[in-house]
This record gives sequence, C-alpha cells and structure tokens, in this order.
Amino acid sequence: MTAPTDLIWQSKTPATASWQQQLKTLIREPAELFARLDLQAEDMPAHLAACQDFALRVPSAFVDKMQRGDWNDPLLLQVLPQGAELLAQTGFVADPLEEQSSNPHPGLIHKYHGRVLLVVSGGCAINCRYCFRRHFPYEDNNPSRQEWQNALDYIAADNSISEVILSGGDPLVASDKQLAELVQRIAAIPHVHTLRVHSRLPLVIPERISDELVALLTGSRLQTVFVIHCNHPNELDERVQQAMAKLKAAGVTLLNQSVLLAHINDDSATLQALSEKLFAQGVLPYYLHVLDKVQGAAHFDVAEERAIALLAALRDRLPGYLVPKLVRELPNYGSKTPIPAF
Ligand SMILES: *Cc1c(COP(=O)(O)O)cnc(C)c1O
Ligand code: SF4
Repeated sequence: MTAPTDLIWQSKTPATASWQQQLKTLIREPAELFARLDLQAEDMPAHLAACQDFALRVPSAFVDKMQRGDWNDPLLLQVLPQGAELLAQTGFVADPLEEQSSNPHPGLIHKYHGRVLLVVSGGCAINCRYCFRRHFPYEDNNPSRQEWQNALDYIAADNSISEVILSGGDPLVASDKQLAELVQRIAAIPHVHTLRVHSRLPLVIPERISDELVALLTGSRLQTVFVIHCNHPNELDERVQQAMAKLKAAGVTLLNQSVLLAHINDDSATLQALSEKLFAQGVLPYYLHVLDKVQGAAHFDVAEERAIALLAALRDRLPGYLVPKLVRELPNYGSKTPIPAF
C-alpha cells in the first residue's frame, strides 16, 4: 500500500531529474497547471487569450512550491495569464527601457559605465508575466559565433569595462560548454575583473546549479557575483538552499533582486520575511525594483508612495544590510534611479 505522503511526492518533479530534463518538460498548458494545483478551470480568473501574447511557461519545480487550490498563491500569480494583460494602459509600452537603442551589437547592451550586459540566451525557463522583456526581440539576440566575436572585441577595445554581466533571457539556459567558453574568453580580457550572472534559474530549476556550473563560473581569475531573482519567501525551499550553499562554498557573492508586485509581495511582512529568508540562505537583498511600465503588466503596479512607505517599514524592522535599495530603471540614465530620487 502507498502512504499518502508518497502520493504527494510522486506528483512532484524528483529533485534528481537533470536540469536539462526539467527544462524540456516545462508546463506550457494552462489545463495541466490547473490540474497540478487542484484548481477548477471554471473558477478561473485566468484568461487564455493572454497566452497568445506571451506564452505560459513554468518549470515543475516552481509549481511544487505553490499552494494547492489557491488562485491567489503568490508564485502562481507571477505566471498566471490574466485578462488584464490585454488591456491597453496609458504609459505602459512595449520597450519601456528603450534598450533597443543601446544595443551596439546583437547580444550586447552597454548602458552603464564600466559594465556591459551580454544577452547570452534569449530564452527563459519561466515566463514571468510582469517581465519588462516580454516584448524584447530575442530572435535578434541569439548571437552567432561571429556576433560573439564582435561583442568580445567591443569589450576588449574599451578599457573602461571592468565587469561583464551575463544576462538574457536567462543566461543559464545556455549549456555549460557555451558558458565555459564564454567565461574563458572574458577572462582573457585584462581590464575585466568581475563576472556577474543574473539568473532566475536557481529559484525555478535549482538543479541547474550543478558542480560543473559552479566550477566553470569560479574557475577563472575573475571575481564572481551571482544575482538571483526571488520575489517571495515561498520561492526559497531546500532545493534552492542547496544551490546557494554550493555557490557560497565556492566564494561567490550572492545577491538578490526583486520586483515589487501588487498582490504578491507588496506588504511589509512579506518583504521582511523575504529578506530574512534570503539571509538564512546566504543571500543579501540588493535591489527592489518598481515595475517597469511594460505593456500588459499594469495590474502588478504599486504606487510609488506605497513603495516608499514599505521601505520605511523595512528600515524600522531590519538591519540595514537586509534592506534592499528601492530603484527604478529609466531609459538613458547611467545607473538605476533610487526612489525617492536624489
Ligand atoms: C541593472 C543593469 C546593470 C547593472 O546595474 P548595477 O546597478 O551595477 O547592478 C547593467 N546593465 C543593465 C542594462 C542593467 O539593467
Ligand atoms: S527575464 Fe527574468 S523576469 Fe523575465 S521572464 Fe525571464 S526569468 Fe522572468
């Protein structure tokens, strides 16, 4: 006879499934997601037409952390297609950061002094409904070998660039082989001293943080910074903890950035719990972004006065090193803009 706890276990993705396997078996059908969560489609606040604009994609390991039977689960709300996405809202546009104009070569964004961002992979393991890249022309940003060469030549020719940020999409969707080659080639540019990775994969497919990956990210002369993207304390389970422990043991600086999202993390108790749980897993809060005004994401917006009040509440309750910087990203500025601005 099978004990009930075994049944629950069987409905989850085994943590032993390889990350490649987990990436191949993303949930893409709303009906499958709802069945996994015991949600009745007839009560559905979701709107399937929104999937045509931006597809549903969510790894099983992320669904494992959602509460069954709860349409308002804070992890579910991050991936659930909703009718509100289809409404045009004044001020919410397709390319709010005007990144297409700071794209000197396909796959390279040089917007900030000293730092360049390499779009390593156009794809992500998860489609976050609030993502400012939901309309980004990724097809033009899956660089060919020649384009890699051009991007690396660009970095090599500019002495002011000391940090290379691997971004996307999600850079860790790329293979270890591609990443290893890229890291080696970046490390060969003498004026670059820091390698930074911005990835959501540790939260959504924690097994991506394999020993091989950690070795290739930390095996060069470069100092490594890893910025995860976690919005809610429920995202931080034991599997994530193991991934963070591996990176930490290899000497990687671990930071987190979040997006402030209505109905998901826009209350001080949730934000406090997030900072504390991150710290318990060896990660320091870095940025709390207000939403980029991307078309289709207006229902996640939190008013600026409320954002400021939430930060004040965090400062009251937490040590300074657990209070993230509240920032906004504006087109054509040389850094993120603090809120309130100064
Ligand atoms: C946020 C960001 C960076 C890094 O900024 P930091 O303030 O150094 O974290 C670099 N490039 C782009 C395009 C960014 O959006
Ligand atoms: S770029 Fe980041 S926020 Fe956007 S969909 Fe991918 S994982 Fe989500």
